[in-house]
Amino acid sequence: MSEFDLIRQLHERINGADGSDLSACVVGIGDDCAVLEIPQDRQVVVTTDTLVEGVHFLKTSDAQSLGHKALAVNLSDLASMGAQPAWFFLALTLPAPDLSWLESFAQGMGDLARSAGIVLAGGDTTSGPLSITVTAIGLIEPGMALTRDGARNGELVVVSGQLGEAAHALEILKAGGEPGPAGRVALERPEPRLQLGRQLRGLATSCIDISDGLVADLGHILEASAAGAEIDVDLLPGFAILARLPEEQRRQLQTSGGDDYELCFTIPGNRREELGRMAEECACPLTVIGRINDSGKLVCTMADGTAFVPRGRGYDHFPGDTNRAGGR
Ligand code: ADP
Ligand code: MG
Repeated sequence: MSEFDLIRQLHERINGADGSDLSACVVGIGDDCAVLEIPQDRQVVVTTDTLVEGVHFLKTSDAQSLGHKALAVNLSDLASMGAQPAWFFLALTLPAPDLSWLESFAQGMGDLARSAGIVLAGGDTTSGPLSITVTAIGLIEPGMALTRDGARNGELVVVSGQLGEAAHALEILKAGGEPGPAGRVALERPEPRLQLGRQLRGLATSCIDISDGLVADLGHILEASAAGAEIDVDLLPGFAILARLPEEQRRQLQTSGGDDYELCFTIPGNRREELGRMAEECACPLTVIGRINDSGKLVCTMADGTAFVPRGRGYDHFPGDTNRAGGR
């Protein structure tokens, strides 16, 4: 399979064989650059994320799941800003051109792209160790993007969905076991919370997706907002299977496990009632887990009021490197 065939396969399988979805691009795949028409009353929201074999996924991961996840992690970032997905770019590095692998990969990516209403507008294809970089572009009404810096004293901290299942599934896989269907879905087919992100415009004062683990990512909100918070780790929602684990392990997975692609956000205390209707409309649980305060710290407690100490501070690709800009 030539590079040209490979690009054509991706294009047809992700955007549809008739290319009708490409009406969203002035110039799409096939020229040196894509040309995109930006509506006058929108701001552009851009994000990029790379998945590398051995770092972000196991060698044994199936191609269809990888296609899904590589796009899903980027859509989750768009969701956390409240943006509407529009276009994406795919930089693919492959060890060898393998048609059946590519078909499955494009199937997984294409199914999610169509359901999210996002169009593949270009990319790059090279040979080398397997690595997948997606750049996603979304649109948002001017000034409405949900940033990390708006959390204020007294506001409620809320999380969507269930936490800890993906990290639990990864633990099981690494130990040579089989995590079961719910674990597989959480780890390999996370559903980006796009509808929720859109609905949070005008309600959430800050928002982040918790791909690095709740404690690390809520920590980013607190830092950007110059605030503190207290959360009750026994309020964290999780699937029944987690409830069967030792409590310490469950709490660690839910606070620091990562790979959860849920949203953590803050809302004013007097708007709590709006969460019920929103949870119903978005078909995902929304749970109040604590409050913002002015302590400057994140304190985790358990149901009995005693302190809980999370083990991890989230995944760091360069642990121990304190010389980076701003490093402490
Ligand atoms: P150039 O040599 O100008 O960089 P390429 O041969 O890399 O062009 O790409 C040709 C066209 O195919 C471009 O429009 C590019 O965006 C698109 N393309 C290349 N690889 C991919 C990919 N993995 N996914 C989507 N589009 C791709
Ligand atoms: Mg190129």
